[in-house]
Amino acid sequence: MSAAGWIRSRWRALTSFRRLGALHLLAFDYGQRHAKELEFARACARRLNAGCDIVDLSSLKSLLKGSALTDDIAVPHGHYAAPSMAVTIVPNRNAIMLSVAYGAAVAQSAELVAIGVHAGDHFIYPDCRPAFIESFDAMQRVAVEGCGHPDLRLHAPFAALGKHDIVRIGARLGVPLAQTWSCYEGGDLHCGRCGTCFERRESFALAGIPDPTAYEN
Ligand SMILES: [Zn+2]
Repeated sequence: MSAAGWIRSRWRALTSFRRLGALHLLAFDYGQRHAKELEFARACARRLNAGCDIVDLSSLKSLLKGSALTDDIAVPHGHYAAPSMAVTIVPNRNAIMLSVAYGAAVAQSAELVAIGVHAGDHFIYPDCRPAFIESFDAMQRVAVEGCGHPDLRLHAPFAALGKHDIVRIGARLGVPLAQTWSCYEGGDLHCGRCGTCFERRESFALAGIPDPTAYEN
C-alpha cells in the first residue's frame, strides 16, 4: 500500500482477514521509484485469495515534488533516525491513500480500513504517528456519516510495534518473509543501504530471525 515495506502490508492483510473473513488489498502507484513493491502486493493478494486493486495515482508524481521517492533526488543511505531521511517524505501520502481506501470501503460496506504503519516510522513520517491515525479516523467518521457500514473504522495494528516485533510475529505465524519488499531504490535486489533496507536488516537481527533477503551490498 504505502511506501512502507510489504512486511507490514502482509500483516495488515493477515490480521484483518482472520478477524473479518474477507479482505481487499489496495496498493498505490504514486510514481514511486520502487514500483516493484506493487508486484509484491499482487502476489500477496493471490496467496491470501484476496481481492486486489493497484490504484493508479501516477499522475500525482509531478505534484508530489521534493521527495527522493518520486523526484529526481538520490535516496539517502543510513538509518531512519538520521535527519537526511526527511527527503523520503512524500507530501501527505497516507492521507491521500487512506481517502481513496475509505471511498472504496464505503462503496463495499466494509467495516474496517487497515494501514500498516509501525513505530519505526514515527521518527520522520508525521502521517504514520498515532495522532494522525486517531485524527483521520475521527475525520472520516464525519466525512462518511450515514454512508456505508455504520461501524467503519480505521485500524493500525502495528502503530505501537517496531518492525522487529512484526518480523517476530511473522516468523511465528509462518509468513513467507522472503516474499516481502522494502527497498526504496527500485532495483532488482534490495540495495542494503537505504533507510528501509537498513531497518529491514536491523529488524531481522533484533528479532533473532535469519534474514532471507538477498542484498546488493
Ligand atoms: Zn534499499
